[in-house]
This record gives sequence, C-alpha cells and structure tokens, in this order.
Amino acid sequence: MTDIFTRADALGPAKVVYVHEPALQLRAVLVVDNVARGPSVGGLRMAPDVSVEECARLARAMTLKNSAAGLAHGGGKSVLWGDPRMPRERKEQLIRAFAHALRNEQDYIFGPDMGTDEACMAWIKDEIGRSVGLPAAAGGIPLDELGATGWGLCAAAEVAARRVGLALDGARVAIQGFGAVGKHAARFLGRKGARLIAASDTRGTLHDPSGIDVARLSALKSEGRSVSDYPAGTKLDRDAVIDVECDVWIPAARPDVIREDNVGRLRTKLVVQGANIPFTLAAEQTLHERGVLVIPDFIANAGGVICAAMEYRGATESQAFEAIAEKIRANTETMLEEATRKNVLPRQAAVEFATARIREAMSFKRFNVM
Ligand code: NAD
Repeated sequence: MTDIFTRADALGPAKVVYVHEPALQLRAVLVVDNVARGPSVGGLRMAPDVSVEECARLARAMTLKNSAAGLAHGGGKSVLWGDPRMPRERKEQLIRAFAHALRNEQDYIFGPDMGTDEACMAWIKDEIGRSVGLPAAAGGIPLDELGATGWGLCAAAEVAARRVGLALDGARVAIQGFGAVGKHAARFLGRKGARLIAASDTRGTLHDPSGIDVARLSALKSEGRSVSDYPAGTKLDRDAVIDVECDVWIPAARPDVIREDNVGRLRTKLVVQGANIPFTLAAEQTLHERGVLVIPDFIANAGGVICAAMEYRGATESQAFEAIAEKIRANTETMLEEATRKNVLPRQAAVEFATARIREAMSFKRFNVM
C-alpha cells in the first residue's frame, strides 16, 4: 500500500480515507488534498486500475485548478475500483455504499469523472446530499450537454490568440478527440469565425482544409459513428491529427499524447489544452522555445468545475456560463502577464499564482484539516 506521507508537502494532502465494505466487495479511496479555500470539489473516478497515487495526484490538480479559477473550494478526488460498464444495479449499489461511508466527510463534494456520470451524481445526492454535476431533472446544469468546458476553452483561446497576433475569424482549428469537450470547443470557436479543418477520435482523423460542418459532424458522432464516417474530406489514421498544419491545436482526449518524441510534428501557433495533462512538461518547454503558446489544462479546461461550483450555489445556466467566460479570460490574462514578467512557462506562472492564493488562505486558518 502506498505510504501517502511520502508525497505529502506544504499544501497537502489533508486527509486520506480508505473504504472497504466486504459485503459488497467495495474498495475505494478519498483524498482530500487542501481545504483552505473551502470544501474540496473533485470527481469520482471508477476504473479497474485506479490507484491511491493517481487519486492523490488528481486531488492536487483539483486544488490548483479550483484556486486558479478563483473558486471558494479546495481540491479532492475519489477513486473506486471496478469496471464502470458493470450492470447498473451493481454500480448503483457500490456508489451509494461509498457515498454512505463518506456521509460525514463534509469537506468533500463529489463530482463526475471517468467512469461516472450525472446519474451517479444523482444517487450520491440522494444518499448524502453532497454532489455536483447533477442531471437537469435533479436541479443540475448538464455541463457536458451544454459544453461548459468547450465554452471555457473558447474564452481562453480568444485571449491567447490576441497575444500571438492571431485573428480567430478565419483561424484553422484541429481537435484531437471530438467528444464532449472537443465538439463544443469547435462549435463555440466556429461562432468566432474559426474553421474546423481536422478532428479525430479513437477510429481515425478527418481532414478537410476547406472546413468541416461542426453540427453535421456532432450529429454523426451522437449516433455512435466515427469522424471517419463524415461524407467529405480525407480520412487518415488516428494520430495523423498531430501533423495537420493549423493555427489552433486542441487536445481533448487522453493524457501524455504529446511528448518529446512527437512534439516536433506539431505545426500550430497556439495550443489550448482541453484534456488533462495532455503534454509532458518537456514537450511544453520545447514548444515554448519554438514560440508556440500553450494554454495549460488547469487554466483552459476549468469550465466544467466552475459550472459545477455555480450549480452547487443554485446558479442558473446563463450565470454559470457568464462566470466561466469571465474567470477564464481573467486567469488567462493574469497567467500570460506573469509568464512574460518572470520569463517562465505559462504553466509555471499559473501554478505559482494558484499556490500563492492557497498559501494566503492557509495563513488565516488555525488548522488546515476539517
Ligand atoms: P469524451 O469521452 O466525451 O470524448 C473523448 C473523445 O476522445 C472521444 O471522441 C474519443 O473517441 C476520443 N479519443 C480517445 N482517445 C483518443 C485518441 N488516442 N486519439 C484521438 N481521439 C481519442 O470525453 P470528454 O468529456 O470530452 O473529455 C476529454 C478530455 O477532457 C479528458 O481528458 C477529460 O479528463 C478532460 N476534461 C473533461 C472535462 C469535461 O467537462 N467533460 C473537463 C475538464 C477536462
């Protein structure tokens, strides 16, 4: 078993809770990383191969993301061992049992993540009254349906494009992973006049320099088909999206897709990260040296968690969308100014200001655990 104290530092983690219910073969862990800014918010990830280590790393990422986004929330994460495609009744039983076991952990608010969805959040809400990312029928703002994260990416792209002297009107966009995040990013950027010229999914890449009809491609994807089934353009292999010459490149699929061994293939002016940790640090450094601006994940993709935090406070959909645009624009600007002033990577500048806010909040507290 991982000794969590070996990764503890000045910020956290504040608390780690292991849950084992033999009657259900439930094994799950909660890591509350830091609560100086308020109760932690973070997703529940369900997969057969999760780990405490992964949970702790993701909890820290949420601490930084929530602080950078200016939310009155700390960071936490929970993981549950199991195949998320198990029969629904069994899944509900496990999730309800886990939530019940955490009924007194007031410093953690559940959210959806890989392997869990709005229905899971509704079960948790019913069990302990503490979750975000609820279905509309249970009073939630359906953030993936509305495209909260894609909306935030678009706000970050607007600020970043100005920085590199790029007009979004007419800009060529390539998206790796045409899913919940990718398709909405394409839609909102399209409203600014940008042209989607490439999109990929697990089954291939679609490339059409004359422009792809985003609504048509989204409709096709929602029927369970692939971008490769689009009736125009050139069909290439899955990773060919990396080689497409464009102005804005958006990773919106998996972690570590751009590394030192393939970063040389990217031909873009700007990267706006939709996925979590899609590039290695070394790849980001290389792009920085080449003059390619990279807007890091926890600044650009915070739309989902901002929407969730607004939902928790009873905000309406339009208030949530306004808050996303306002916060992400301001954070992108602050990050870029600081990065220039200190001559560091944008990511480092953002980590520094997020950490400074957390440390300041910690300085007002007698104890940093709840
Ligand atoms: P999703 O499952 O809706 O979409 C992912 C898409 O990526 C799918 O179309 C899938 O076919 C494709 N894909 C998977 N592996 C691929 C690969 N190797 N190459 C090309 N395409 C591939 O997921 P999502 O909700 O859009 O999330 C995408 C990423 O964004 C994840 O990393 C997630 O953690 C991150 N993220 C999501 C949100 C949110 O609000 N949904 C918020 C913040 C971050």
